[in-house]
Amino acid sequence: MERRIFIFFGPPGSGKGTQALLLGEKLNLPVISTGELFRREEELDTNLGKKVKKITRRGGLVPDGIVAKIIKNRIAEKDARKGFILDGYPRTKRQFGFLSEIVKEKMVFIFINVSDKEVKKRLGERRACKCGEVYHLTFKKPKTSGICDSCGGTLFIRKDDRKEVIARRLKIYHAKTEPLIEYAGKAGKVFVMDGEEKIQEIKKDILKRIKNLYSSKR
Ligand code: AMP
Repeated sequence: MERRIFIFFGPPGSGKGTQALLLGEKLNLPVISTGELFRREEELDTNLGKKVKKITRRGGLVPDGIVAKIIKNRIAEKDARKGFILDGYPRTKRQFGFLSEIVKEKMVFIFINVSDKEVKKRLGERRACKCGEVYHLTFKKPKTSGICDSCGGTLFIRKDDRKEVIARRLKIYHAKTEPLIEYAGKAGKVFVMDGEEKIQEIKKDILKRIKNLYSSKR
């Protein structure tokens, strides 16, 4: 059976992580977030965690070779047999090349478009949880202040959501990740979403487009 593969990309704070989780829930597919995998390693203070911590705090990119290994192992796991959703990978041309080598199926790329101005505004109000849930103090408030709705964990501000780090992440995004849209069109289908719409509207739109895509394939 052909796997269903969805790839979310967009600037930091575009809401791609939120949409990836919503889609994963709906389609019952695992969401693989490289940023989340690194944060877990950092939390557990593993060798890998120690190594990447210095890079992620400053908003830089972890070397392609390290990310490749993580991705390859993760998508080989049992829960990804029917497909998977990627959040935050690929981010560079080399990563895109590697992904195209290990995935033979056509992929669906969901590009969430948000202006730099909006990104800067949003990230200052972002709160994260260890379990991977993400909140926003205006757009997606937790039911109880400071507490995760999903797991009851204590919410925190990511180290890389500081102002100067955000500027660096945006710069890297425009230089290295944004140009990948051009390759995406050749490797599959690209959906461009307006990330400044409401979360539920974007979700509905993504589902509608996926439905249309698969019904037109039959
Ligand atoms: P994210 O949660 O996707 O914003 O990722 C947090 C941080 O993890 C990034 O700023 C990078 O330092 C690192 N990271 C995540 N995904 C990748 C990737 N595909 N390639 C290189 N570094 C990554």
